[in-house]
Order: sequence, then structure tokens, then C-alpha cells
Amino acid sequence: MVDLKAQYEKIKPEIDTAIAEVITSTAFINGPIVKEFQADLETYLGVKHVIPCGNGTDALQVAMMALGLKPGDEVIAPSFTFIATAEVIALLGLTPVLVDVDAETFNIDPESLKRAITPKTKAIVPVHLFGQSADMEAIMEIADKHGLFVIEDACQAIGADYIFKNGRKSKVGTIGHVGCTSFFPSKNLGCYGDGGAIFTNDDKLAAKLLSVVNHGMTVRYYHDDIGVNSRLDSIQAAVLKVKLSHLDEYATARQQAASFYDKAFSGNPKLKIPARFSNSTHVFHQYTLVLNQVDRQKLIEFLTSREIPAMVYYPVPIHLQKAYLDPRYKPGDFPITEFLSGIVVSLPMHTELDAEQLNHITSSVLEFVSA
Ligand SMILES: *Cc1c(COP(=O)(O)O)cnc(C)c1O
Repeated sequence: MVDLKAQYEKIKPEIDTAIAEVITSTAFINGPIVKEFQADLETYLGVKHVIPCGNGTDALQVAMMALGLKPGDEVIAPSFTFIATAEVIALLGLTPVLVDVDAETFNIDPESLKRAITPKTKAIVPVHLFGQSADMEAIMEIADKHGLFVIEDACQAIGADYIFKNGRKSKVGTIGHVGCTSFFPSKNLGCYGDGGAIFTNDDKLAAKLLSVVNHGMTVRYYHDDIGVNSRLDSIQAAVLKVKLSHLDEYATARQQAASFYDKAFSGNPKLKIPARFSNSTHVFHQYTLVLNQVDRQKLIEFLTSREIPAMVYYPVPIHLQKAYLDPRYKPGDFPITEFLSGIVVSLPMHTELDAEQLNHITSSVLEFVSA
């Protein structure tokens, strides 16, 4: 699905030098490079504070801890997402409240969101799934009206722009009260291990986030909050500083691959290409087709036989996952999520796809669906 080796080969001298400098310095934790990357990312995103941490799941957990969410508080999340979004809500003893997604964009549906709000609701976690922003203007309006926190899960969409109705642009993850991202190797800005970050424009919240990621400690060995240990190590920061300088090129490469796929598949009644939301750019973490009267499993097997990986993100909605079964929910409650889970398929999407590979992929998909 990704080709990290070919990507590394192109930036090898920069990366190798950056990693070697960390090793020579032996400042493996909290080295100066972590601050340098943090500052670069703040500039890139146009956000006041970036707090690096251990991974994207921690970023979400720490955000909820720093906002002071307490057991019994309800937190709204989409039913069609990676498990981490709901997992941290459950882990903290908060109550996950799921809502259905929009059939076109795969993102949280503002109308369903409105209906899920109760007096116990404290926060909303919109996920910018597959690389495209959720409808942030509608979500912020609902949140403001009800006094709710918005925690953006931008793990799949770093670098995407949300375009407000008045034309103003903001990077996803910087619009809500707090934004979270992951630097897992296969993410759009991936490191060579685990990593994550939290964004906010709120000075007080930034101080709290910084405390929570570091054992609730602001003065050494004095603990004002119950925190966690979640750090971005210096070697990962060194890799990320190099890769951040290429992030826009990487997004362009992904968009070009998506256009190639679009051109090959558009108009085919069996393949629905990913819809674009006019208020967002799309950075294509995934290129996801909605199939129509195609045997998905057989398609995946056929592509595998041609050495083309294809994946289903995500085959089981959160409310039907064994660990998350809940008497509040039953099959049929989130019809769009359930429909999509049964019918979507994602094709290889990364920065190193060339015309030959793209041709091989598109002609194989078309051969299967026209057979
Ligand atoms: C990857 C991902 C996460 C978790 O990130 P990790 O770094 O793997 O912990 C959370 N939410 C979404 C939507 C993701 O894609």
C-alpha cells in the first residue's frame, strides 16, 4: 500500500545525516532537534503551539485529559473510523457516542451530530478521514452553540487545507480547540517509528497539554496533574524535520496518483471515485472506491494475484466491534457506515507511484469489473 523504501532512497543523504547527528549528540530524548521540528511544524500549520508526543492515539488521549473530561461525560465520534478515536474515549471512562457519516465524504454528518447531543455531551471528535477535512464550519457552529470542545483527529490529513466560506484557509487540526496527528510510518508525514503531536492556539491549554504528556509535571518532581509519559524521541524528530520540508511535494504526488485513478475509473458504473468536499483540499492518505455490484473479496484476491495490494478501511464499524458492543447500539443504527464498511476498497496510495504501476493497477481493476 505504501513504498517507504523508494521514498527514503530519494532523501537518503538528508535523513542519514540528520539521524547521525542525533546519535553523535546522544541527546536521544528531548534533544534540541525536537524543539526545531516543533517550531517548523508550528510555522507550517500556522498554529501557536505544537506539543510533540509518542503517537496519534496518545495525542487523542492527552487532549481529552488536558480538557478535563471526566467519567460520565459524553464524547461524540464518527462510527466509521480507525478504532483509536473511540478507544481513548472508552479508556478514560468517558462515554463514546457514535454518529453516522456522510455517504459522499465519509466524514461525520453534521445533521446526525446535532441529534446525538445531550446535556452530558462535552466534546466532539471529527475525523478527517482518508485525507479530507470534515465539515468544520458546521461542526464549530454546533459546538459553539452547545459549549462543546472540538478535538480534531487529523491523523490522516496533515497538510490538508480547510477552506472557509469567506475564502480563508486553515490547516486541518488547527480549527477546533485542539488537533491531533500521528507520525506512524505510513501516515502522510510519517517517521521511522512511532510519533504524534497535538496542536492548539490556546496558551492555557498548551501548558496543560505539555504537563500531561510529561507526567503532569511542570517543575521537576512536582506533579500538579495526573499525566502520562508520551514523548517524540530525537531520532524521529530529526526524520520528521527533513520530511516536513517535503510534505507539500508528497501531497502533490498523492494528488497526481489520485487524478490518474479518477481518470481511469470515472464514468464506470461499478466504481465510484472518491467525492471531493468543496471546502477542503484532499491529501489522499487513502484512495478509496465505493464498489457497485462488484464482489469485493474476489476483486482483492484478483489484485493480490497481480501483486497489487488492496485493503478495506474499515471492515467493521465501531458499534459492531466485539469490545465496543453496547446495548445502546444495534446493527442498522448507522446505515451509511454499515453500507460503506461492506463495500469500500482502498488502492495503493503513496508518494512513489509511477505511471507504469498506476497503469498496471487501473487496468487490472478495470479488467476485473468488466469481466
Ligand atoms: C493512525 C490513526 C490514529 C492513531 O495513530 P497512532 O500513531 O497509530 O497511534 C488515530 N486516528 C486515526 C484516524 C488514525 O488514522
